[in-house]
Amino acid sequence: MMYTRKGIKVTDGIIKNGNKYGYMVDCCCNRCGGAGWGPWFQDGGICYACRGSGGHHKKFVQLYTEDQLAKLNERSEQRRIQKEAEREAIRGAIREQALEHYNQIIQRAEPFAAENSFIRNMLDTLHSGKYTRLSAKQEIALHKAVETQEALKQQEDVPIGDAPKGKQTVSGIILSVKNIENRFGIQTKMLVRLDNQATVYGTAGKALFEQVSCTAESEDFFNDQDYNGAYNASYRVRFVGVRIKFDADFEPSNDKNHAFFKRPTKLSVLPATGATPCEQ
Ligand SMILES: [Zn+2]
Repeated sequence: MMYTRKGIKVTDGIIKNGNKYGYMVDCCCNRCGGAGWGPWFQDGGICYACRGSGGHHKKFVQLYTEDQLAKLNERSEQRRIQKEAEREAIRGAIREQALEHYNQIIQRAEPFAAENSFIRNMLDTLHSGKYTRLSAKQEIALHKAVETQEALKQQEDVPIGDAPKGKQTVSGIILSVKNIENRFGIQTKMLVRLDNQATVYGTAGKALFEQVSCTAESEDFFNDQDYNGAYNASYRVRFVGVRIKFDADFEPSNDKNHAFFKRPTKLSVLPATGATPCEQ
C-alpha cells in the first residue's frame, strides 16, 4: 500500500523510478490551466507563462509506505517542536531584557497598581509578555504617573503643621494662581503649600512674575501682564508647581493650618522644581 506525502492512498499506476516508488501525473501551465491563452492576457490572449503551449507535461510524484510516511511525519513534527522552542527562547530573552530595562520603574510602580488604573494597565502590558516594550510616550507617562503617586504618598506621610504667624521667611510649592478683582483692581493671588504642609494665601506680587518670567521662552510673556500686576491666564499656569521662597507678614485664619499674607518680599524661585532661578 502506497501513500502520497499528504497521506492519500494510491493503488493504480505505481511505477519504480530508480529506488523510489511513485506515479505519473498530468501537469500543465498553472497560469492558464493548460489552455495556452486567456481573455485577460496581453499579446492577443496568448499566455505569457507557457507562450501558448499550455505547458503540458508529466510529473513523477513520489509515494511512500505507511512506515516511511510515519517516519517522515515524526521527523517534521520534531523539527516543528525544535523551531518553536528556538522561537520561544528568543522571545523569552527579549522579554527578560525588557523586564530588566523596566525593572526599576516596575518596582516603583507596583505599590500603586491597585488604585491607579493607568499604572495597572502599563504593568499588565509589561508582564503579559505579549508586548515587550512600552512606547516612548507610554514610558514617559508611566514615569510621570509614578512620580505623582510617590509625591502624593510622601505628602500623606507628613503631618500638617501649623501655619506661620507674623513676619517670617517661608518656602513651598505654588498650588494655584488666580486673578481676583477687588477695589484695588485685578490682583493675582496665589495659594502656596509650605514645606510643613500648611497652606498660605496672598498676593503673588510682581517679584513672582519677574522671577518666573526669566525662565519663559517668549518675550510676549512681559506683554501679557495686565494692569496692577495681574497675569494672563495662560501664564498663570506656569507658576503652578514652582517652588518658591519668600518673606511676608502672615495673618492667622480660622484654620490653624492656613494663613493669609500681603505683599511678599525677597521672593525667589528655588531650583527644586527644575525651574531656573533668576540671576540678579
Ligand atoms: Zn499558460
